[in-house]
Amino acid sequence: MINLPYRVALLMHLDSSIRLFDRAKKLMPGGVSSPVRAISPYPFYTARAEGPYLWDADDNRLIDYCLAYGPMILGHRHPAIVQAVAEQMKRGWLYGTPSELEVAAAERISRLYPSMEMLRFVSSGTEATQAALRVARGATGRDKVIKIEGGFHGAHDSVLVKAGSGATTLSIPDSRGVPADTAKNTLQLPYNDLPALETVLKAFPGQIAGLIIEPVLGNIGPVLPEEGYLEGVRQLTRENDVLLIFDEVITGFRLALGGAQEHFGIKPDLTTLGKIIGGGFPVGIFGGRRDLLEQVAPSGAIYQAGTFNGSPVPLASGMATLDVMEKENVLEKLNATGKQMRKGLQEIVDDLRLGYSVVGIASMFKIFFGEEPHNYVQALKCDKAGYLAFFRRMLDAGVFLTPSQYETDFISAAHSPEVIQTTLEAFSSCLKN
Ligand SMILES: *Cc1c(COP(=O)(O)O)cnc(C)c1O
Repeated sequence: MINLPYRVALLMHLDSSIRLFDRAKKLMPGGVSSPVRAISPYPFYTARAEGPYLWDADDNRLIDYCLAYGPMILGHRHPAIVQAVAEQMKRGWLYGTPSELEVAAAERISRLYPSMEMLRFVSSGTEATQAALRVARGATGRDKVIKIEGGFHGAHDSVLVKAGSGATTLSIPDSRGVPADTAKNTLQLPYNDLPALETVLKAFPGQIAGLIIEPVLGNIGPVLPEEGYLEGVRQLTRENDVLLIFDEVITGFRLALGGAQEHFGIKPDLTTLGKIIGGGFPVGIFGGRRDLLEQVAPSGAIYQAGTFNGSPVPLASGMATLDVMEKENVLEKLNATGKQMRKGLQEIVDDLRLGYSVVGIASMFKIFFGEEPHNYVQALKCDKAGYLAFFRRMLDAGVFLTPSQYETDFISAAHSPEVIQTTLEAFSSCLKN
């Protein structure tokens, strides 16, 4: 398993992590609990975290731009969350009954996301998108849905699909174990391509329940919407009686407190949230138009249930996160550090004339080893292997970027301008090599 050239190239001491990975591999598929964590030749094992930093099992300190793939918007161990969780623990942590906390949280989310006239709490983004697609199908009585190529909506059957050979062909499973009969009901379209959407809507009249989209593609990017694209998607779905589902698991509470729908001024029919809203604990939310959500059990016939739905500790953590974000104007500061990072990186890339591109929005950024992509096919043209080698040099320099060309890097409120500056110096020396 261990790939020698990279092992030799690594300067970090990883003895403890290597030993842990050897034990893990015997019991856990690929040695990890989720595939993205399987950094080759072995992942570092985190022992503790604080502010913008992680410390691994060998006590290497890393500046964290992965931030658990998005949730940790305040950085690690924010004191307000430590306190909110400790307070909630005193009152118990799972009741199996309704509680005031979930009512207050629902009111608050619906205020921030007026398109979510009603909503339900679940435990992950995967559960949220699975339920939202079921609501779309249940409410319309149609089986087909549309997703965008390169969009990620969690790890359930309807969205683990790869495209067929053209826009109007049916998808095929992208994982063993996904029934072909399920995959064929998901159509896939390139991002930023309204004519392709029109073609599919014409080809399947009255058969499509909904279109699910990350307003900014966060799982191959960030890849940004071109001028007028999201507006066009909204218009075409409305005209063709197809429900529009914004998957804001990444963009929610990051582009604005009210998500991409506030930032771009677009009102979807259904929305999914996750990641940030648990403040690092597991929470997902699906919601939307009242006439649709009223069809969810027990008030309607679309079934969804969960032992941990509306769980108090994760909700207390999420609400404390919102408190801090509102009181301290966190997004304004984050947008400024995001800009500092992208501007600094752009200067480095320009100086070195590497033909790389720096892309991002708000507190999301990525250096693409290639031209800025506007859809999935273009993103695939980037130099993935080159990026991975660079990723390892950055680790050696004490910076943990997301371990793939196709995962977004995030900035937290704990990343001061000085931390960003230190990071830019690491970028500069690692890109030079
Ligand atoms: C991470 C993610 C999901 C899945 O959320 P989990 O909490 O990992 O299940 C869904 N949609 C988007 C856009 C995501 O980034």
